[in-house]
Amino acid sequence: MSGEFAYIEWLRKRTPTHPRVLIGPGDDCAALAPGTRPLLVTTDMLMDGTDFLLAEVDPRRIGRKAMAVNLSDIAAMAGVPIAAVVSVALPQITNARKLAEELYLGMREMADRFQVPIVGGDTNSWDGKLVISVTLFGEATERGSVRRNGAKPGDWLYVTGPLGGSILGRHLDFMPRIAEALALHEAVDLDAMIDISDGLSADLHHILEESGCGATLDADAIPIHPDAILRSQSSGRPPLEHALTDGEDFELIFAVSPEQIHRVPSQYHRIGVCTPSGYTILEGTTPRPLTPRGWIHPLS
Ligand SMILES: [Mg+2]
Repeated sequence: MSGEFAYIEWLRKRTPTHPRVLIGPGDDCAALAPGTRPLLVTTDMLMDGTDFLLAEVDPRRIGRKAMAVNLSDIAAMAGVPIAAVVSVALPQITNARKLAEELYLGMREMADRFQVPIVGGDTNSWDGKLVISVTLFGEATERGSVRRNGAKPGDWLYVTGPLGGSILGRHLDFMPRIAEALALHEAVDLDAMIDISDGLSADLHHILEESGCGATLDADAIPIHPDAILRSQSSGRPPLEHALTDGEDFELIFAVSPEQIHRVPSQYHRIGVCTPSGYTILEGTTPRPLTPRGWIHPLS
């Protein structure tokens, strides 16, 4: 058996059956049974040196992250993930097959939690660094998908968990908020939602731009992760700034009209309110302008 054929056989043996998968890995294409609701499609590419350091990180964690970032995008639409395809460019190293297997096992570990089969893909090697790209298919529920463009002035803004300092490890080990998003969407009319990949101030700004409104955040209400405090000790920047700008928290930001807020579970953090225009953060009673990259330093 050639190397690639042996690897495909290895993958095949590890692909669980799934009611939507008519043809799994091993043919020219996979075949998925169509559903009745809109198909959601997302893709994300991770590169050694940019999104992780292969020299420093267990490949299983890299595989896990490659799957998890895509699951997070499906969560941000309040969708249900269905199946994934994977492309990997391997570096020309002696144990490349082992690396491919470890990546796959990491992807599987994350995919299994959400009953997502990996139904196909492509593996090549080149004289560059490791690149791994996952494409994930999902489906909206009968409630439809939640977009970025439905926030309105007066809506309350929430996040699902504490923010900042993800570089200390959470950017690899986070849990995509699929279950939380589905439960929320079931209980509450969500006007807009997004997952935090670029940072709270940048990703909330995407909601504001798409929705055509502004926001005022309450500095005291933003949940700060203990990692943001740790980072602050080495960076010299305030923990709040890490919470606003660090990114890769993969929590969700969502907007809810005042009539619906009593339905929002109490574990979520109300961080501010949508306004007709502007983008500010209140520290005590002092409003400070925010930008997608965080606040404007008083001394800058
Ligand atoms: Mg996203």
